[in-house]
Order: sequence, then structure tokens, then C-alpha cells
Amino acid sequence: MSDELKLVFDEPPQRKKVPKHLADFSPAERKEFATSFGLPGYRASQVATHYFSHLSKDPTTWSDIPAEMRQNIADQLTPKLIELVRSITCDNGMTRKDLWKLHDGVLVESVLMRYTDRVTVCISSQAGCGMNCPFCATGQAGLTRNLSAGEITEQIVAAARACADGELPGGPTRLSNIVFMGMGEPLANYNAVMRSVRNITD
Ligand code: SF4
Repeated sequence: MSDELKLVFDEPPQRKKVPKHLADFSPAERKEFATSFGLPGYRASQVATHYFSHLSKDPTTWSDIPAEMRQNIADQLTPKLIELVRSITCDNGMTRKDLWKLHDGVLVESVLMRYTDRVTVCISSQAGCGMNCPFCATGQAGLTRNLSAGEITEQIVAAARACADGELPGGPTRLSNIVFMGMGEPLANYNAVMRSVRNITD
């Protein structure tokens, strides 16, 4: 019997598709995404500004969109992809591990860490992992599925929002570092990871 480690790159078939989110698309594609709901393309740019720049999750404040349309547009373009299940803290609150539930009940983690000179979030790019590293508990459980670009980006936006809202001791701050060192091998989910990288750098 071979003791060679088996690497798994293909995710098992999924029963439910991840809802599409603005953060799954490039700026040009976002306009098409908006028009697929019968919205003018410029609504995508407006919502992207609220989501990426203002870190807003409250459509009632999106004053450049008619009030009666805001919630519906938010639900269509930025559906809720991750829901906080539990947070645990250590280092006097300067380190916080968040457990997130995805739309299909899958759980992933991110960790937010505040230091004297930076704030770093460590995010997950896959649920489980197929790389089978012998020292890693995530790897022993195997690959459940890839995360979408939206699900990856949501972890980053949630961390940036927590920093801006002063949820860590020391008051409001800016998220400065993002590392893809949570659950999953990022390069095994290349397209979604690269979309999320472009979301935060473009
Ligand atoms: S999560 Fe990282 S360390 Fe763990 S099995 Fe995957 S690649 Fe290896």
C-alpha cells in the first residue's frame, strides 16, 4: 500500500450553488450582473462604492439610490454570503477568531489580529482543503468545496468594517494586511482568489 499523500484539486459535486454577488465580478461584468436584474448598469458602480469603499451593509444609507429600491437592489447585488456564528478572542481582545456559516451551512474561519504597527486578517479560500498536509487538521478533513470570490471578499470586507467600527481594542483603525492562510490552499482555487485580490487592489 502506497503512503503517498493524495492531493485533491477537484471539489466534490455541490448540491447548492453559491448566490452570485457583486464581488464575484470585474467592474465591467458587474454592470452586466446589474442588468440581469433589469437594473441600469450604473447601479452596480453605486453599490460597489457603498460596499467596497464605504464598507456599508445598510442600504437605507445609500442616498444615491431611490429609497424604495435600496433594499431590493442590495439583496440582488450583495446577497448575504457569510453569517457570523461565533467569535473568540485572546491577547486582551487584540486577536479575534470568527467562525462563519456559508449559505449551505458550511463553516469557515477568519482571524483578525491587531498589532502595534498593523492589522492583519487571515482568511479562508476553501472550506476544508485537499492538500492533505500531515500536520494540519483542516487537511485531514479533506476538501468540502471552493469558496466563491464573493465569500472570500466578504471575509475581508467584514474585517475592514470591524476595524473601521472600532471593534478591536484601541479604537477605529484600518485593515492593513490580508493573508490567505486560513482554511484552504489559495492556488487550488485560483480564479476566485485572484478575483478577490483584484477586488481589494483595483
Ligand atoms: S490548509 Fe494549508 S496547511 Fe492545511 S492541508 Fe491545506 S495547504 Fe496544507
